[in-house]
Amino acid sequence: MEMGPDQESQDVKECQVVVSFFSDTPVVGCAVKPNVRVRVEGSVFQPPHSLCCAWYREQVKCSVHHSVLASLQCISCVKLKMPFKKSYHCSPECFVAAWKEHLARHRITTETVNSTAITDHQETKILRSCGSWSDLGSATVVEGDWVKVGSSETYEPSEDDTGFRLRLESFAVNCSTGTLMSPINIAETNPVITFPPRLPRYMIQFEKFRTICPSSDATFNVLSYNVLADIYASISAEMQSYCPTWALAWDYRRKNLLSEIIEYNADIICLQEVQSDHFENFFKPELTKLGYSVMFKAKKKGVYTEKGEIFEGCATFYRCLLFKEVIRYEHCHWWMLWDLDKKLKLASD
Ligand SMILES: [Zn+2]
Ligand SMILES: [Zn+2]
Repeated sequence: MEMGPDQESQDVKECQVVVSFFSDTPVVGCAVKPNVRVRVEGSVFQPPHSLCCAWYREQVKCSVHHSVLASLQCISCVKLKMPFKKSYHCSPECFVAAWKEHLARHRITTETVNSTAITDHQETKILRSCGSWSDLGSATVVEGDWVKVGSSETYEPSEDDTGFRLRLESFAVNCSTGTLMSPINIAETNPVITFPPRLPRYMIQFEKFRTICPSSDATFNVLSYNVLADIYASISAEMQSYCPTWALAWDYRRKNLLSEIIEYNADIICLQEVQSDHFENFFKPELTKLGYSVMFKAKKKGVYTEKGEIFEGCATFYRCLLFKEVIRYEHCHWWMLWDLDKKLKLASD
């Protein structure tokens, strides 16, 4: 069917792109995968379309050297609620050189707003680097230029993005005519944060168990870890309200989980709440590379999501050099017997 100009403009009016982020705060090295839907009013189905996406990074320039990217911000300016553009500098040297003039602006602002509570800040020379621009929340929204950094639906922020906001522009295009079907949707994130260092855990020491092989010196380590299935983390984010949403995003969590699990160097790793898709395309390939074999048992009942029914269950990884599967029982619960011969041999070598 030929589409006249009227029909096309009708499409634009009725069709729209809806974008939502799981977390508004992107983390360096963790892909941002927004939920992008194309909707036509009065229909539950997505119309045939191709989606065009463009990612932009905000560029904040030095308030003195206008062509140079800013890397530092005066905290006093932020606390005094001064125009943000004037608070950025390219280097500590640049800030110090501009300090006299900068301080005069602080004083004028303090006099104008006449608040004793903030006078402490006016004389203070405190800077923060662009990596921590997000610390003071929405009060730090900056006005910058935007530079294109990507053109697919997802985007993985790099170190260069730290401290800057990201913007996703997306629109739907008619596949056959190549014409615009929807208005351009603009969605913005908070400033990108660096990947935070993992906090140390405080472990409780147990006596070593020697019940299996009382006559031998053979020992092995067992790690048990509930990894919190993403279906529970993302569906009930409010249940994990003590945790910022960026720390609940699967792309962030899986990196942390894997590095910690590997660090314990266990001979048997028992993981609970392993989502079947994450088992297949993440845990299994990653731990197989490190010499583990695995048994996985999903629960019979799944959780219904937008992507269909998703299952989670228990994954037991074991070092294939030390153990082999002898027999498997699957009932309400399941057990395994392990062949310790090889381990005993290795221990006596
Ligand atoms: Zn300042
Ligand atoms: Zn400068």
